[in-house]
Amino acid sequence: ALESWQRELREQFPIITGNPDLAYLDSAATAQKPRAVLDAVHTYLTTTNANAARGSYPWANRTTDLVERTRDVVRHFLGDPQAGRRDARSGVWFCGGTTDGLRAVARDWLAGRLTDGDEILVPAADHRANLEPWLEVRRILAARGVRVTVRELPYQESSGDYDHRAFPGVVGPRTRFVAATHVHHVHGGDMNVQRIREAVGPDVPICLDAAQGVGHLPLSVARLDVDFVVFSGHKALALPGVGAVWSRNTRGPAFRPGGWQGTPNTAGIASLEAALRWLDAAGTDRIDRWTTALAARLTEGLRHWPAYRVLGCRSGPAVERRHGIVTFRHRDIPSDDLGFILDSRGFMVRADTLCQAGATDGQGSVRVSVHVYNTAEEIDRLLTVLGELA
Ligand code: PMP
Repeated sequence: ALESWQRELREQFPIITGNPDLAYLDSAATAQKPRAVLDAVHTYLTTTNANAARGSYPWANRTTDLVERTRDVVRHFLGDPQAGRRDARSGVWFCGGTTDGLRAVARDWLAGRLTDGDEILVPAADHRANLEPWLEVRRILAARGVRVTVRELPYQESSGDYDHRAFPGVVGPRTRFVAATHVHHVHGGDMNVQRIREAVGPDVPICLDAAQGVGHLPLSVARLDVDFVVFSGHKALALPGVGAVWSRNTRGPAFRPGGWQGTPNTAGIASLEAALRWLDAAGTDRIDRWTTALAARLTEGLRHWPAYRVLGCRSGPAVERRHGIVTFRHRDIPSDDLGFILDSRGFMVRADTLCQAGATDGQGSVRVSVHVYNTAEEIDRLLTVLGELA
């Protein structure tokens, strides 16, 4: 049943069906778009295009409606209990993507709320986009004579998860904010965010970088008990240049002061509405079952050859739940060469240091990442080539 469901969905991606000899295996970098998203952008730009919240003519009103409606689509998609309520306390702000959104939370929201001696926890073993903005806050405040301590959210290499046993050593009465990651961009494990909430208590805001989670698996802000969720449209089947910041308690112009926070990327928002509705109809739980199975197929295959080492979470539960991302190295072939060989055989993969923050050994790696349009046949074809190189 899952196979026929997937075949039907795959058919909806023109760039995939139009290139049967290529395998796009770089969805963690950016995802391909279903026809519904392409059509939504075309329809918006050919029937409605106007600025939002400015004019009172029909195109302008329809654009304003699009923006407001998509805010609610985001709430709904993230499992926000306030979705559908006119008086919702939660807010959705459209940004350029995850990097831009995290920076906005850091500069426009967090910086003005910290005082001398406060502490924040940040994920130093995750993506740079979720480290640099918080370090920048420390720099900005230090220039004003406000000292903020930035502590590393403890990470355990062997499990690929945050090391909750070490939380008591870094959480204290001055802990004011935690930045964390939903799904890790190197090994695809979903991080145990609930343990962070248990450690810091109910009053410390937690901001989640959900760049690799949204569109891949169900995400419930109610269940995870977080205060901010930031994600990129382009990784969730929408256009590049649009993303969203969901915040539990902040409605209105909290970010980027200006006229209605500037002109939003309205065509991008149209794509985001269509993408989230498409994902919702497809079912993120089924998408997750599909992509997790493909990732498991690849790791199982790689295990046969000692020449390959799969990175991150060597043990522990995260091994079983790589949400569509597998990163590995070859013992002898440098990763950029391996990437080049795979390129030449029609496999589009990522081969570099993956924007990894914090201490890495500086070596590159090859990352294979899948979405709903990928197939077991593509993974098997890839394994055949990797086997030749093993
Ligand atoms: N965080 C994570 C976990 C990511 O994987 C990425 C994308 N590589 C980003 C943030 C940055 O996203 P964007 O480039 O869309 O701003």
